[in-house]
Amino acid sequence: MAFLKQLWNYILQNIVAPTRPSSSQVWELVMPFGRSPSIRRHAASVIVARVQLICLVFAVLVPLCSIIDFLVFGWDTAIKLTVLRLIASAIFAMLAWPRDISVRRPYVQALVMLSIMLMVPSLFYLMAMMLVDIHYLTATQRLVLQLYAFMPSIVLGGLAIFPLSALEILLFACPILGVALVGMSLSGGDLSLAQHGAALWFMCMMTGVAMFSGMTQSHYMERLVHRAMTDQLTGAQTRRSGVEALERMFMMAESSDKPLALAFFDIDHFKAINDGFGHEAGDVVLVEFATRLRSSLRSGDMLIRWGGEEFVVALPDMSADKLTIFLERLRVAGMGLRADGQPLTASIGMAEREQDKAQDWQELVDRADQRMYLAKRSGRACAVLPGQEIVPMPMPLTADAS
Ligand code: GH3
Ligand code: MG
Ligand code: MG
Repeated sequence: MAFLKQLWNYILQNIVAPTRPSSSQVWELVMPFGRSPSIRRHAASVIVARVQLICLVFAVLVPLCSIIDFLVFGWDTAIKLTVLRLIASAIFAMLAWPRDISVRRPYVQALVMLSIMLMVPSLFYLMAMMLVDIHYLTATQRLVLQLYAFMPSIVLGGLAIFPLSALEILLFACPILGVALVGMSLSGGDLSLAQHGAALWFMCMMTGVAMFSGMTQSHYMERLVHRAMTDQLTGAQTRRSGVEALERMFMMAESSDKPLALAFFDIDHFKAINDGFGHEAGDVVLVEFATRLRSSLRSGDMLIRWGGEEFVVALPDMSADKLTIFLERLRVAGMGLRADGQPLTASIGMAEREQDKAQDWQELVDRADQRMYLAKRSGRACAVLPGQEIVPMPMPLTADAS
């Protein structure tokens, strides 16, 4: 059993070489669960952009192919096929139309758009098979129909360009394989392996290749996004990605009428650590500070390195009256030690969307920033709440991060 698990991990890890993922990352490539919201958002924007590009091309090409229908099939059939083509083209054009990505459910939007795009050629193929009288076909007509029969395989191959998990590709492939089977039965012959086995085998291979490609793309996308979004030293979000997330969090809090709190941290007398013990010692203190802060956060909260030794923590769904609970958690976790062994402290400014009547995320950050400066002026090692109340934040000497 252990050997099989090792073999399975070996195969999966080598699929995405040379950047080898951990076992948990491997499972995220196989199953669609466990991806972080920001990775989902990036995957969604890649999927939507690719769907729109393909749909734009197809919106133009599909009606153009009517020329072939008119040359090969009789007028009656060609007109019916043209109507089908125009409907398909209109759906492609609608998908290609410029649109914003949903703030709330970007990934669901991407998957819905992708599903519609995949089903249009498959359904066109089925309807075409029903419209054409397969009993009296000329050689050219048979050839054109055989080309139509490639449609499901092409759609399956097309799945390869999307950064999806293996399971998602398989789920998308199942209805397309179903359409192919119905198409085979409509084509007049029986469903024997001898007649259709090769085509089915080819489609299964295409599905496998698409699964492989989807996992590889997902992995590289995740690595790149992760690298671009996280600060190398502390593992916190970079300011750029943090601003994007804050913007989104603010819009979501506003539209659902929920609180959104923010805490602005500036470490006290940090320059003295650098000056007295060197920049490297300062870095060690910064890493420990970020680790302890992270240990006090809930799963939806976000730690952003705003710059130097300044950090912003976004606390969705936390009303102003709950901020003291957050501060208590911070106090228990501590902020680490200075290079001389003394407890590290910070000045903290807090703001909350509803209480501060903030119109946008910048206003919320400004308020928290101003209160952080008030905390500095009030003697440091304290937090200033939205109501300007000052809460002392003495830190324990040897606190362990939980
Ligand atoms: P105050 O209590 O007033 O905040 O005093 P301070 O010494 O912390 O003053 P300030 O916030 O202005 O100091 C920031 C210092 O942080 C200056 C800079 O050298 C140091 N710093 C910024 N980024 C880094 C970093 O990545 N590593 C290290 N070691 N030091 C950094
Ligand atoms: Mg500073
Ligand atoms: Mg400072």
